Amino acid sequence: MPLVSMRQLLDEAAKGGYGVGAFNVNNMEQIQAIMEAARETKSPVIVQASRGARSYSQDRFLYHLMLAATEIYPEIPMVLHQDHGNSPATCKSAIDMGFTSVMMDGSLMEDGKTPSSFEYNVRVTREVVEMAHAKGVTVEGEIGTLGGIEDGHGAGGTGLEHVTDPAQAEEFVRLTGVDALAIAIGTSHGAYKFTKKPDGSVLKMDLLMEIHRRLPHTHLVMHGSSSVPKDLQDIINQYGGKLKPTWGVPVEEIQLGIKHGVRKVNVDTDNRLAITGAIRKVFVEKPEEFDLRGYMKPAREAMKKVVAQRMVEFGQAGHAGDFAPIPLAKMAEFYRQPVGA
Ligand SMILES: [Zn+2]
Repeated sequence: MPLVSMRQLLDEAAKGGYGVGAFNVNNMEQIQAIMEAARETKSPVIVQASRGARSYSQDRFLYHLMLAATEIYPEIPMVLHQDHGNSPATCKSAIDMGFTSVMMDGSLMEDGKTPSSFEYNVRVTREVVEMAHAKGVTVEGEIGTLGGIEDGHGAGGTGLEHVTDPAQAEEFVRLTGVDALAIAIGTSHGAYKFTKKPDGSVLKMDLLMEIHRRLPHTHLVMHGSSSVPKDLQDIINQYGGKLKPTWGVPVEEIQLGIKHGVRKVNVDTDNRLAITGAIRKVFVEKPEEFDLRGYMKPAREAMKKVVAQRMVEFGQAGHAGDFAPIPLAKMAEFYRQPVGA
């Protein structure tokens, strides 16, 4: 199956009432872990690359690994998404490269750190929507500012400093025409999301419900949605790691979000933890090991396990065969139709 647009995947998810995990990748083993999990659970997938991942992998390597995945897993609908594009130029380079979806994060200035104005956000996002939709490529925007920092991108701070204003979200979608909208409802990037055990009301559910009520046809996106499970932290620390105690977003809270319009759920930290723990374990238990495959295989397997579990928990499992892919050219035609047609 060729790479498909994220819009199609999320439209299907909305119909089916489920969420789709969007997993970050930097190398071959991570892509393989996601694809094996998708095959095992029969899930459609969103694979995403940050700017950092694109420069680490020199883009073309990543893109061709994804093409290999479409050959080896023809039954799995797959989206290649640019995570946190910091400028229209970054999004353009992703589209030129063959990405089928881009995020224009205009909630921050081009430096990826300084919160921007609403007007700036609308302007750059609108520019990307025009460029992307002409090619059938999906666009995710962001309104409100997430907490934390990931891959050098982020405003820092907690997830509650700049939560999304529902009226502004509605206005933003009307002015830009984005397909999907990342909202700030209390989550943050990175491993250190919460310094104590969350009490079951981590997410601003009232905000989420109000945004979904105003924008029933916009797919909502939750960033920073790793659950940071204690068992994965423990493996790292048991084998010489030094993670400070930390808590992520409980899966039940994400599932509640999915009930209220969340269709894309970004997960990265959990996979990083799984991989690091598995590698540390081999290094401690078999210090004589020096074959890369000796530790990359268990690392890949550990990530696959986490991804498969999330696919089941988010509800995307079993839905890989629900639909035939719509070519990007057809999606471009769809976007050319007047609104409401
Ligand atoms: Zn993010």
